[in-house]
Formats: sequence, structure tokens, C-alpha cells
Amino acid sequence: MFTPYKHEPFTDFTIEANKQELLTAIKQVEANLGGHYPLVINGERVETDDTISSYNPANKQELIGTTGKATKAHAEQAIEAASTAFESWRTVAPAERANILVRAAAIVRRRKHEFTALLIKEAGKPWKEADADTAEGIDFMEYYARQMVELAEGKSVHSREGELNRYIYTPTGVTVVISPWNFAFAIMAGTTVAPLVTGNTVLLKPASTTPVVAAKFVEVLEEAGVPKGVINFVPGSGSEVGDYLVEHPKTALITFTGSRDVGVRLYEKAAIVQAGQNHLKRVIVEMGGKDTVVVDNEADIDTAVEAIVISAFGFSGQKCSAGSRAVIHEDLYDEVVAKVVEKTEALTVGNPADATNYYMGPVIDQAAFDKITGYIEIGKSEGKLVAGGKSDDAEGYFIHPTVFADVDPKARIMQDEIFGPVLAISKASTFAEALDIANNTEYGLTGAVITNNRAKIEQAKQDFHVGNLYFNRNCTGAIVGYHPFGGFKMSGTDSKAGGPDYLTLHMQAKTISEMF
Ligand code: NAD
Repeated sequence: MFTPYKHEPFTDFTIEANKQELLTAIKQVEANLGGHYPLVINGERVETDDTISSYNPANKQELIGTTGKATKAHAEQAIEAASTAFESWRTVAPAERANILVRAAAIVRRRKHEFTALLIKEAGKPWKEADADTAEGIDFMEYYARQMVELAEGKSVHSREGELNRYIYTPTGVTVVISPWNFAFAIMAGTTVAPLVTGNTVLLKPASTTPVVAAKFVEVLEEAGVPKGVINFVPGSGSEVGDYLVEHPKTALITFTGSRDVGVRLYEKAAIVQAGQNHLKRVIVEMGGKDTVVVDNEADIDTAVEAIVISAFGFSGQKCSAGSRAVIHEDLYDEVVAKVVEKTEALTVGNPADATNYYMGPVIDQAAFDKITGYIEIGKSEGKLVAGGKSDDAEGYFIHPTVFADVDPKARIMQDEIFGPVLAISKASTFAEALDIANNTEYGLTGAVITNNRAKIEQAKQDFHVGNLYFNRNCTGAIVGYHPFGGFKMSGTDSKAGGPDYLTLHMQAKTISEMF
């Protein structure tokens, strides 16, 4: 029996010993940069002609490492390996599969600061964010392990006289995992271990900007006892290898986390039944967000300001849950905006590997830098620039936290997912109007409402159409097992990662009825 689940504690870096441990880990990671990580197919290291190079977004010249780059031929080999391995892995007892996850969690916990340091270097994460990313990955393993043990016996159904009915969950098959860079450890690990623990075999295609941390995690899974062919590591071009894997007739399940356009495309492709395919593919697609913090006129102002700033600028706004828009009641508007500006201007920006422990690091790459600075230019014609607006990509991709006030609710910076440190603020004259504005995007991922009025809390519970709704706090920072995560509308299939229904999405329910 496992101990009851509780989430991994966050590290307090105001404690000098913790700070020194992390700085030592950063030095160790720096000393080992530049390594090469080949593909892993059927337990073998496979070298490729092309490679993917991963650079530090805070220091463009610094190579984090290289990985193999799969071609379609490699993808085919990996599918065959996963397909063969499925025949034995699916029969392994669920408790044994769960044990492997707990062992993997223990290995990562022992090397926690090393993974955190790698996230700081490869994804440009500030310490707190990197530490939370590592902790969340551990949480996914611990939580899903326990949930698999609970699901192993199935769920109860009724039996009539002379009959025994059972309802059990069985594995689905070869699973393609396509993960994003922004939770380069947690989402990559969580979306990999969920299919594994439910008896499926996996091809992991990580984001090309953060493949090294994924390679390290595959090593952990192997060390924890995942058999050959059950986990295959196939970094590669999304459009080449990603499409091939998604369209393959032997692919049974696709679990994607990333942007809206790519997600929709994969969802459509997966629906087409290919020659030789005798099943319908299951698809989990978790996509973008344009998330809102709503501030009512009956709200605590400091709570509102804190919620807005943390939601907008944690990890430079590069979270699907980021509160990149705030809608503030006109009665409090001027005061809240003034305090948001003050708090935003106090945020520090710099290289997260420095001992300074900056609040914000760089954005992920040149494409992100160009996109975000482009939106800052658009914002100048759509609203009033009240904070930030500065950027510098000489050494790394640094953008200062930026706030636009007085923005029309239909403006582009209020509608498009910018995925950077840009906050747009609109004014509302009533609470109902504020909720209408909050709902006026195509997304429906997270949202927060700051109010002291019970009736308005109840109203928002009914009318605010998001998968994760928070009151009197920020709209980011969902914790596995506490805040199951997933969105409505064009934010995705609402799979609720880290929640009680997630694993069953990876399995096929089977009814067994016997007469005696
Ligand atoms: P992305 O869509 O660019 O890439 C995600 C993954 O898809 C990467 O591994 C990428 O290589 C792959 N890919 C790209 N094109 C592909 C194709 N044609 N076929 C197959 N695979 C392809 O997203 P990103 O920039 O890595 O991540 C940021 C996005 O992810 C944001 O939109 C963010 O909101 C979203 N996100 C959503 C959640 C959630 O839970 N809803 C969580 C994290 C991030």
C-alpha cells in the first residue's frame, strides 16, 4: 500500500542552504553541458544523421545539448517496437507498473535540484518556476501510480441472479506523446507516465526547444524499470515525424499539449481512418488559453493586484493558464491599474542562472521574442502602454513585463494568445459585463474572480466558462491531485490532467459478464 498522496513541497530559496544547493546544481549542470542524447528505440541508442541543438534562451550561444532527430524511418521502427512491446506490457500487473512510477519519482526527487537547474538553463525558468515544474512532474508520477492501483479492480456494476458482471479498464495500445516546452519536465513527464502506467507503450516526441530534459527523463524511466520498447524517445520535426506518428494506422492514442493551431490540425488528422487501421484513435488535445482575472467592485484591492501580476508575469506569461487579461470594475479601475503598474515595475528580469534569483527570465526563443514584441507594437495602437514595453535580444530573449490599459475587449491583444509577458486591461461597468468580457474569447482554460460578494461567486460559478476557475487568487499554479487541469472551448478536450478521470482516458473499459 502506498502512503496517501500529497503534493511535493516547493523549495524555499530564501533559506540560504537551499539557495546554495541550487547554485551548486546549476554549476554541475553547466559543467556537463553539450552532451549528446541519441534516439531511444526498443531500448537501443540510435544515432541519426541530423541532430536537434538546444540552446539556453538566456544566453543564445550556450549549447545545452544535442539530441538525435528522428526521420520517418526511425518513427516507423519506433512504432513497430512499441507495437511489439505492447503485447507483453499490457499484461504486466497494474500494481507493478505503478511501482515503476513511484521508483521514477524517487529517482527524480533525489536529483531534484539537478532537474530544476536543467530547466533553468534549457527553458530559461526562474528558480521558483523551475522548482515547481520539477515538483509537478514528481506529483504526476505519485498521483497516477496511486490512481492506477485504485482502478486496477475496475468499478462496480450490478449482477443479477446466476450472473457475475465486471467492469474493468484495459490498455489501449501504442501512444504518441507530443509535449510542449513550457512545462518541459512536468507536462512531458505527466503525459508520458499516464499512458505507461495504464499499460500502453509510448513514443515520446518532446518540444524541439527543450529535448535534453526529456532525454534525461527517459533515462530515469529506464533506470526505474520501464522495459525496452515500452518507452521510445523520438525527438524530431513536428510537421515531419509528428504528422507521421499521428497518422500511423498502428497509433491508438495521441496525447498532445501545445498550441491551438497544431492541436486542431492533429485532432483532424487523427480522425481520418488510414488503410489497415481497424480502430478509431483516441485523442487528448490540450491547447492554449487567453485567461482573465476579473476584479469586482466589492474586492480586496491588494488581493486583486497580487492575482493580476502573478497570473500575468509568472514565467514571463508563458503558461497556458497565464492571466494575460484583466477586466476591472470601473469603481476600482484607476486604483487597481496604478497598483498593478507599481508592482509590475518592481519585478526583476535577468538571467535565471545568476545568484540574483530574478522574478522573470527570458522568453523561449527568437520566434517567441519576435511574436511578443510584435504584439507589443500592436498594443501601442490598441491601448495605453502603462508599464514595460522594453526588450533586448542581444544575449538572450529578454522582454520586460508590459501592461496595456484601456484596451477594447475585442482588441487583438485582448483576444490572441501572445504567450509572453504582456497584460491587457479592460474596464467593465458591471460584474455581469465583466463576466461577458471574460467569456468573449475562443478559449476557456482558466480564470479568476476577485470579489467578496457570495452571490457574485455563485454567479461566476455558473457563467464563467473555463475549465479551471479560481476565486480570490491567481489563475495559474494548478497542483496535481488538488486542481485537475484542462480547458473548455478551443482550449482543448478538457482531459483534466492530475485529476480523478485522467487515467481512464488512456484505457478501454471492458464489460465481462459470466453466467453460472
Ligand atoms: P506547439 O504547438 O508549437 O508545440 C507543441 C508540440 O507539438 C511540440 O512538441 C512540437 O514539436 C509539436 N508540433 C509542432 N508542430 C507539429 C505538427 N505539425 N505535428 C505534430 N507535432 C507538432 O506549442 P508550444 O509552443 O510547444 O507550447 C505552447 C503552447 O502550448 C501554448 O499555446 C500553450 O497555451 C499550450 N499549452 C497548453 C497547456 C494545457 O494544458 N492546455 C499546457 C501547456 C502549454
